[in-house]
Amino acid sequence: MKLPYTVENLIARLEQAGFSAYAVGGCVRDSLMSVQPHDWDLCTSARPEEMAEVFRGERVAETGLKHGTLTVILDHVPYEITTFRTEGTYTDHRHPDSVSFVRELEGDLSRRDFTVNAMAFSPHTGLVDLFGGQEDLARRIVRCVGDPGERFREDALRILRALRFASVLDFELDPATAEALRAMAPTLEKVAAERIRDELLRLLCGPGAGRILRAFPDVLSCIIPEIRPMIGYDQRNHYHHFDLWEHTVRSVENVPPEADLRLTMLLHDTGKPSVCVLDARGEAHFPGHQPVSAEIAERVAGALRLDRETADRVVRLVLNHDIPLCDERGGVNLNRSFMLHRLNRFGEKDFRTLILMHRADRIATGHSSPERETLRMRERIDALDALLAEKPCYSVGDLAVSGYDLLSLGLKGPAVGAALQQLLEAVMDGLVPNEKDELNNYVTMFIKI
Ligand code: ATP
Ligand code: MG
Repeated sequence: MKLPYTVENLIARLEQAGFSAYAVGGCVRDSLMSVQPHDWDLCTSARPEEMAEVFRGERVAETGLKHGTLTVILDHVPYEITTFRTEGTYTDHRHPDSVSFVRELEGDLSRRDFTVNAMAFSPHTGLVDLFGGQEDLARRIVRCVGDPGERFREDALRILRALRFASVLDFELDPATAEALRAMAPTLEKVAAERIRDELLRLLCGPGAGRILRAFPDVLSCIIPEIRPMIGYDQRNHYHHFDLWEHTVRSVENVPPEADLRLTMLLHDTGKPSVCVLDARGEAHFPGHQPVSAEIAERVAGALRLDRETADRVVRLVLNHDIPLCDERGGVNLNRSFMLHRLNRFGEKDFRTLILMHRADRIATGHSSPERETLRMRERIDALDALLAEKPCYSVGDLAVSGYDLLSLGLKGPAVGAALQQLLEAVMDGLVPNEKDELNNYVTMFIKI
């Protein structure tokens, strides 16, 4: 294993001062998997004040010093160096009652969550792997260090971290770890919403997301209770081949791994169970489920403390996930006026996203193949690209006349806004070109002044 020069340098300086020091945790795991680590964390036998002494003269941030962490900034890159520590008992499922600094690496590694995260490396000592982390990496398994029940009891966030790592690394869960996290899932309610949010969004974006959602809906229901009624819910409709949870999982899997999109698909049909009606043939329909899902999305966004912009986007996309994109015969609707109205209503970014969501939602019915839906999506995107390349007019601001022009034609007050809207419709419908003279003519001919 090769450490970056700066990391070797930090370790060497601590060693020269008589301490031991190692790269530890995620960076060791990622290096062993030949993945480029996004940061390098170090641990050391030096106490915080001893570290501060060793790195006197360097740029440091002391914000974490109380917990044993000194951040040293070399070439603009921050490195977190933390004193070896063990944790005392946990009574609240989230904070250790005490933290003690220790001089041995072993104590520090044994407090870490999973075997693949509990390895350390220094050029001097080589790899320190006390809990079988390498073997679990090779077998692609997430397994707790020590007794899983106890570890999840100490810190309930680890329940979700286990699922997150299994999704992001695309690993299986060790059976005992899986069993314990299922049993402890209700204690997730004790964990701070922001921490749940961060882990959940990363879980949703991992390559193993579908597999984890499929296997652990009961655990996720402890975070988002509206998931529970979807599990095994029979949609009783010939168009849907899967139960509602399986449909949801497939919808998530088939959109790009972006947090807001994946969360949108997770929530898009949450409103269905509460609005179900059966027709004379016994087929189920879900009229008005979109706004109900959007209300649920609003609640979930609040509970997860999503930022306002993301929350609004998720709610908007959930509300509009079902907007028709097809013509009357179910074909791809590439009609120019139709697309301009869609652009006007949703804006380019959301319209593009709705096209991606539409594909995923259709694949997830089991009624259509991924190949077919990908082709249909491609057609829509190509047509949209071609249309946008013409710089078409699809908002009032794009019109070749302004409100002032209409005032000078004699229109007053609210009539100005209404006339602009009418002009825009006419332009989008191809009834009049977006040119000043033509628009002025149109106003005098068709709009009452
Ligand atoms: P990544 O940064 O890619 O998410 P990571 O393994 O570095 O992965 P972090 O959350 O940055 O994950 O945590 C760093 C290390 O700290 C972990 O590898 C693990 O050893 C330890 N750790 C983090 N959170 C916990 C926890 N809740 N309980 C026990 N150990 C933890
Ligand atoms: Mg990390």
